[in-house]
Amino acid sequence: MKPASNLILEPMNQSSALVLVVEDERDIATILENFLKKQGYRTERAADGESALTLFRACNPDLVLLDVMLPKKDGIEVLKAIRREKQTPVIMLTARTEEIDKLLGLELGADDYVSKPFRPMEVMARVKAVLRRSYANAPVTELFRLGAIELDTLQTTVHVSGMSLELTASEFKLLQHLMTYPGRTFSRADLLEATMPDSNALERVIDVHIANLRRKLSEVEPGEFIQNIRGIGFRLKPQA
Ligand code: CA
Repeated sequence: MKPASNLILEPMNQSSALVLVVEDERDIATILENFLKKQGYRTERAADGESALTLFRACNPDLVLLDVMLPKKDGIEVLKAIRREKQTPVIMLTARTEEIDKLLGLELGADDYVSKPFRPMEVMARVKAVLRRSYANAPVTELFRLGAIELDTLQTTVHVSGMSLELTASEFKLLQHLMTYPGRTFSRADLLEATMPDSNALERVIDVHIANLRRKLSEVEPGEFIQNIRGIGFRLKPQA
């Protein structure tokens, strides 16, 4: 999100948010656009992956609804490209529920997933929830430090011992949550609620994200940052 200072005290009216709909099936795209407009959102539409990226850069949307199967560049490639540039919330539209597990395994950093066929009102609820969350996460505290880890919520960057770390949106939120309460142990359910509250994802998704986060941290700085508290969950290791 744009870190404008007025976001802190007065969150932007969600209804004026711009949603980029990326969907090659014209009927579905039209239905989504109509529902979004009825909810007061502005919309832009792209029907293939390449024009989606062009439009994304040109119109700087507040949220992207992104179909997975697309001509020219698929949704996965588009999401990767978006994440290289921005942390704009992305909700993936997938044809099959099994795809969601596969996508999660790829740790691409989508904010949520909706499987087709969907009810348009379900998508609207997800859009609203993801936007509300992204506004709620608007910068208040900018910098968290714990030992060698430095997390900047304004720049959405993480440095470990001064080295930049590339995290997905979910990993970032997870680490941010852990850093907000260092030393406290969170259950998988807590972490899921804190980082993906409106998702249907299962608790084991947290294990995937934690494993990836640990691997990335340890690549830069050896040592245990995230502790598994058996039977309870995870915490950041308190710093001496
Ligand atoms: Ca499609």
